[in-house]
Amino acid sequence: MERRLQHLQARIDEALIAAERRDEVTLVAVGKTQPPERLLAAYRLGVRHFGENYLQEALEKQEALAHCDITWHFIGPIQSNKTRPIACRFHWVHSVDRLKIARRLSAQRPDWLPPLNVCLQVNVSGEASKAGVAPDEVAELARAVMRLPRLRLRGLMTLPAPAMDREAQRRPFRLLRQLRDSLSLDLDTLSMGMSGDLEAAILEGATLVRVGTALFGPRRNAHPSK
Ligand SMILES: *Cc1c(COP(=O)(O)O)cnc(C)c1O
Repeated sequence: MERRLQHLQARIDEALIAAERRDEVTLVAVGKTQPPERLLAAYRLGVRHFGENYLQEALEKQEALAHCDITWHFIGPIQSNKTRPIACRFHWVHSVDRLKIARRLSAQRPDWLPPLNVCLQVNVSGEASKAGVAPDEVAELARAVMRLPRLRLRGLMTLPAPAMDREAQRRPFRLLRQLRDSLSLDLDTLSMGMSGDLEAAILEGATLVRVGTALFGPRRNAHPSK
């Protein structure tokens, strides 16, 4: 894993240089299907941000890694009856795509914790099957979310369909950045880019990349249904 992390860090650094950027990119290690020991190995190499898609799996790993100083990101689909543990156990949620979910997360965020950092997941490519708010509905949702007292709206997230060439990869990321800029809302986060397309995302301004396989290797199996 050490070699994969070094290689990944080099890819991120080279993309930042190519983009002539002087800021940094946060690496969120996506641990779905990986056991807690694999996350701990990454932690020991210095990784501090971890992302999970499935609540039950995440809660088990959080318990196993309770002694670690980890920032936890929830990046998967959110069912409205599962918002409470998400509001209590995570620092960030990237996959907010409707007001009902945002309201519940705000209402259920414990008083003793700082406001929950959230990104709105946007379906930039407009695929009917994909999660995410439509681009033309983002402004309204963002303004409503900003009024919720226990949430802190940080930015936008997208998960585009895989594309092979760099130009095709950049298109949805560019749209997300333009959308963020058009909101004029002081949003500091663009959560975009994964193992196969993080260079394209960084060229378009990603501040946070979510990386699974390039760090942990191939996933174990399809996720067991829980
Ligand atoms: C699995 C997943 C990732 C990481 O994907 P890799 O291709 O393994 O890097 C990032 N974001 C989300 C939302 C995911 O579900």
